[in-house]
Amino acid sequence: MFRRFGSKVTIIHSGPQIVAREDPEIAAELQKILEAEGIEFFLNAMQSRSCTEAAKSRLLSRVRMHNDDSGTHLLAAAGRRPNTDDLGLDKAGVETGKNGYIKVNFRLETSVPGIWAIGDVKGPPAFTHISFNDFQIIDANLTQGKNLTIENRIVPYCLYTDPELGCAGMTEKEARAAGYKLKIGRIPMTDVARAIERMRRLE
Ligand SMILES: Cc1cc2nc3c(=O)[nH]c(=O)nc-3n(C[C@H](O)[C@H](O)[C@H](O)COP(=O)(O)OP(=O)(O)OC[C@H]3O[C@@H](n4cnc5c(N)ncnc54)[C@H](O)[C@@H]3O)c2cc1C
Repeated sequence: MFRRFGSKVTIIHSGPQIVAREDPEIAAELQKILEAEGIEFFLNAMQSRSCTEAAKSRLLSRVRMHNDDSGTHLLAAAGRRPNTDDLGLDKAGVETGKNGYIKVNFRLETSVPGIWAIGDVKGPPAFTHISFNDFQIIDANLTQGKNLTIENRIVPYCLYTDPELGCAGMTEKEARAAGYKLKIGRIPMTDVARAIERMRRLE
């Protein structure tokens, strides 16, 4: 977004690949698309010590790079944690786990009968539609006498890059690790009628 607004954007990433959970070939393709827009990447930033200094003044954050390049604004995207510290969960006896996420079972019940947790606060996957589906599960169990659970829920998700990256189910990496025999199909977007048509309209 900032690149398209005209900023020079450099991504300094600690790992060896962007979008770490995706298969390497997907991550590489996405990186290529972003680089084609002029975004620069420094991967393995810790080992290569890409960023040598970060300082904050009244108006600006300044980042200095190993190649003596520097940036004026720093956007730190280093993860999120739930806002559960001051909810008094311990007083109610609701157990939390790693990083403060509320512990739930497959029916989204907490350690206290009559208290449920839905959405991000109970831990990943953290998506809007997952929060809503959590609600649907509890609603169906409470008001319609159903016995729905989140066990084996297939999670579709989308990364709002341009073009978007959409996924459902396991990645290839996960499927291989689970020992499945795979049949893999590949269709380049240059062969997809809708993509061709949209590209024509953009030209
Ligand atoms: C930068 C970013 C990009 C994202 N992009 C996507 C995306 O593209 N697609 C997608 O599906 N998901 C995306 N997500 C995730 C999505 O926003 C969350 O999964 C979703 O909002 C979770 O809904 P929720 O109701 O569980 O929590 P939230 O939407 O976080 O709602 C929790 C609410 O509780 C309030 N609250 C907190 N503490 C208290 C308190 N003590 N008392 C009262 N109220 C309190 C908060 O103010 C907030 O309004 C993104 C998240 C971020 C941060």
